[in-house]
Order: sequence, then C-alpha cells, then structure tokens
Amino acid sequence: MCRQLAYLGPPVALRELLVTPPSGLYRQSWAPRLQQHGTVNVDGFGVGWYAEGDPVPARYRRPGPVWADEGFADLTRVVRSGAVLAAVRSATEGCAAGEQAAAPFAAGRWLFAHNGVLPGWPEQLGGLAALLPPAELLSLTARTDSALLWALVLHRLRGGAELGEALADTVREVVKHSEGRLNLLLTDGSSLAATAWGDDLHHRSDPGAVLVASEPGDDRPGWQRVPDRSLLLATADGGVTVLPLDRTH
Ligand code: GLN
Repeated sequence: MCRQLAYLGPPVALRELLVTPPSGLYRQSWAPRLQQHGTVNVDGFGVGWYAEGDPVPARYRRPGPVWADEGFADLTRVVRSGAVLAAVRSATEGCAAGEQAAAPFAAGRWLFAHNGVLPGWPEQLGGLAALLPPAELLSLTARTDSALLWALVLHRLRGGAELGEALADTVREVVKHSEGRLNLLLTDGSSLAATAWGDDLHHRSDPGAVLVASEPGDDRPGWQRVPDRSLLLATADGGVTVLPLDRTH
C-alpha cells in the first residue's frame, strides 16, 4: 500500500522531512521497510503544504515515481513549511492512474490521503456511493476508492464535523459496506487526524512538533506504533491522543 506522512511543527524545508531521513518517504517509494501490501510506490506522489499566513495549502503532484521527477529536488530544498502532508502511491486493482489519483486530495483548507483499499471497487460499492448526494459523486476527483473516501470525509467536514469526527464516522460507515483497509490522514494546517485500520501507522512527538507516518523514516528512539483500529489526533504543539476507534464518536 501507499506510504504517507504528515507533519506539524516549526517550519522546516520539505527536504528535511521527506528526503533526508535515511528511510524517509522518498526512499519508501522504492524501499519501504514495513510495507505489507504491495512492494514499491511508483504510481504517483504528492506533497501538500501550508505557507505562513495563508490557510489554503499548495500542492505538487505527479503521476510517476518520485525519484524520476526533476522538479522535486529543487522544490523540496527551497520550500519550508510548518504543516505538510505527503504520500507516495501504489495503485490498487481497478483504480485509475494519473496525477488526479495521487494524494493529497484537497478542498479549501483541508488535505487528505488514504493508505489502503476498498475491495470490490467499484462494482460492489454502490451502497457506499449512494450515501453521497449525486453532485458530490459526480465531483469525485479521480476514479479511485481513495477519492470516494475523500468525498465521504469531505461531506462530513462541510457539514461541520471536526477532523477526527469526520474520519472516525467515515470509517465506521464504510466498514458496514466493505472490509476495507482504511488508514486515513487529514489536516487543516493546525491540527491533524489519522486512522489506523488495517495497515501500519506510527507517530513521534518532539518538542513542539509531531510526525505521523506509515512507517518511521529513521531509527531514532521516540517512534511509537499506533494500535490497529485507532483514531489519532494531534496538534502543532506536539500533543498526540490515540483513541480506540470502535468506541470513539
Ligand atoms: N487504493 C488507493 C489507490 O489506488 C490507495 C493505494 C494504496 O494505499 N496503496 O490509490
């Protein structure tokens, strides 16, 4: 499955987050250490970040492997941010290719990514699709399971849900329809939420900063594994709360 990462904290060069760590997201695109499903993550990549004083994030996404992209090295060297969400993609069966299918997905001030799969995509997911108003279904950003999940999360966010609530409610709804793997990651630039549901999730807190990632980018002490079926909530001051997903509401 894909690998993904989110960071909140003091502004750092994107390179320090993504490329410099010896087993960071960049290297995870061809040599992930913990990936249980799939082998490499070469079906696109993306990074979204917030600039100081602007609530709407910027994104850079491409359809191929991150190491083959000439712009990535320059971009990650000069762009600094205190709120970042990035992903490298391994497409699952039946999902569309292309830049539009690469996370992060975005709307307004939110960035979202999904690591996992909805088995039976798309034929067996009519019940799930029917939960969305037709106009939102027609607005799917890509013909993928992740884009459908993003539409379900966004529907809740637009209805006023908090980040964690939007993810937890979506997971609980989706599992009624599909035995999916649902590691979701969402930020608004000042806090973030993530679910562990079927795949790896780790986090670390350093003074005033938090990193949440599919797998640790290095072997420093301080990384913690998030138990499966959990909801993680984090803020830029490094505070992290992990709740059992079955019992949160
Ligand atoms: N199923 C999603 C996609 O194809 C996510 C893939 C993954 O986690 N490997 O984009």
